[in-house]
Amino acid sequence: MNDPTAHDYDVIVIGAGGAGLAAAAVASDQGARVLLVEAGPRAGGSTSLSGGVFYAAGTSLQREAGITDDSPDAMFQYYMTLNQFKLEAGLVRQLCDDAPVAFEWLRALGVEFRAEDLYVAGVDKLRRGHRAAGQGAAIAEALEGVISQQHVDVAYATRVEKLLIEQGRVSGIIVDGEPVRAAATVIATGGFGANPEMLARLYPDAARHGDWHWYIGQPSCRGDGLVMGQSAGGELSAPNRGLLLLTPGFAKDLEVYLPGWLMVVNQQGRRFVDESIEYSVLAGVLGEQSGRRCYGLFDEASRLAAKLSPVRPAPHWTADRLAELADRGDLVRADSLESLAAQLDVPLAALETSVARYNQHAEAARDEDFFKSSAMLRPVRQPPFYAATVRAAIICWTGTGLRIDRAARVLDAAGCAVLGLFAAGETTGGMFGECYAAGGASIANAIVFGRIAGREAAKLAGVTKI
Ligand SMILES: Cc1cc2nc3c(=O)[nH]c(=O)nc-3n(C[C@H](O)[C@H](O)[C@H](O)COP(=O)(O)OP(=O)(O)OC[C@H]3O[C@@H](n4cnc5c(N)ncnc54)[C@H](O)[C@@H]3O)c2cc1C
Repeated sequence: MNDPTAHDYDVIVIGAGGAGLAAAAVASDQGARVLLVEAGPRAGGSTSLSGGVFYAAGTSLQREAGITDDSPDAMFQYYMTLNQFKLEAGLVRQLCDDAPVAFEWLRALGVEFRAEDLYVAGVDKLRRGHRAAGQGAAIAEALEGVISQQHVDVAYATRVEKLLIEQGRVSGIIVDGEPVRAAATVIATGGFGANPEMLARLYPDAARHGDWHWYIGQPSCRGDGLVMGQSAGGELSAPNRGLLLLTPGFAKDLEVYLPGWLMVVNQQGRRFVDESIEYSVLAGVLGEQSGRRCYGLFDEASRLAAKLSPVRPAPHWTADRLAELADRGDLVRADSLESLAAQLDVPLAALETSVARYNQHAEAARDEDFFKSSAMLRPVRQPPFYAATVRAAIICWTGTGLRIDRAARVLDAAGCAVLGLFAAGETTGGMFGECYAAGGASIANAIVFGRIAGREAAKLAGVTKI
């Protein structure tokens, strides 16, 4: 019989995205012998594709920007309230408390964050979105730099699909049929956006629009971590969590923003939201509308004025491109509201009332219904009129995953820790509700719990430095 105490490594980390790199860096820093196994040809995962926004409160960067009254306590209140406290409060507390610590760590590792790039990432109007210069790739590169200077063995192009389970505990992984043993194993394989079967089962909102959907993360994020964690007894958090982004489907690329100057109506021809609110909550609001779709309206004057905004870039929403899209039929173009209503199959009377009211708001520079900023109010008056059908159909990341505790230990259905097993990042769940708290919370989650998993895994292996 194999001796599970004969370890090849102290810690094995599966997945080299933000969470896995952070776990490997911290475990190794504690003195652990670490093996990092990555399915792709290089490190980075979806982290390296991301905008690199890190959500945190009470940071040095905020203070440099003159924000001295923000705190993890305030972030916790906002985060929990937004989701009606239907979250794992302990995990959220850990996230809020550790986010500034993890942020300072990234800064100390050389990731550049500039005060002028701090922005309002949630609906609380507080500047907590810390955008890395160089985006997510810069975060991944800095972490890779750390592990390259430490004693971390890295195996690329190696997809792990099985945990080694011996004598009631996880004792490593099986790769190419061969066991590799460790005192602690960390799953950091990201989400399951690239796995259609799992999306249909665990994230039905993301699978509702059929071919309209596409995933913008790493193709190697297929939910392997969820399957492996479950094979060891790990339980999954609540389904249907993640982030969808709104898209008119002009092209299958990344669109984070719709232009705030659009007038948006639902299938009933009525406005239902401030069109310029944060992308993190827009998909949820749209999800409440019938048909889960809406129409973004504008007129010829707005088309002619459309240009790329440096603050909220929306690449397709420029004058010439919009004309091209209308010519090829991707945008409805109509000479009258009557024709527009008929083409969209929305009730004309409601559409006329909504447009008239919106135009009044624009004239008065005051949106009495949804309080959109006056700078974003552009009348819909001059034909031809245009409309884009918008759906929440871009899958950015998934938020259902392995349940963990504050020490990043994977939990079973009884709430007990699965021995020898930790998890961090998008492969876990519990800290995201129906509404995404704010842009940057997912990377904060990956780095915060990646660090914790690395530290706790090293501790379990008995190699704690301090
Ligand atoms: C385009 C885009 C922009 C985004 N922008 C932001 C943002 O600005 N702020 C924010 O907070 N969030 C953002 N997100 C979400 C965020 O990037 C991710 O949720 C987060 O980076 C996930 O980190 P992770 O380490 O858990 O997973 P990942 O970074 O995806 O890493 C997982 C790694 O595991 C590897 N892997 C998977 N399966 C296996 C296996 N079986 N064996 C071995 N390795 C495996 C993968 O190849 C991958 O390298 C964005 C996402 C996308 C796609």
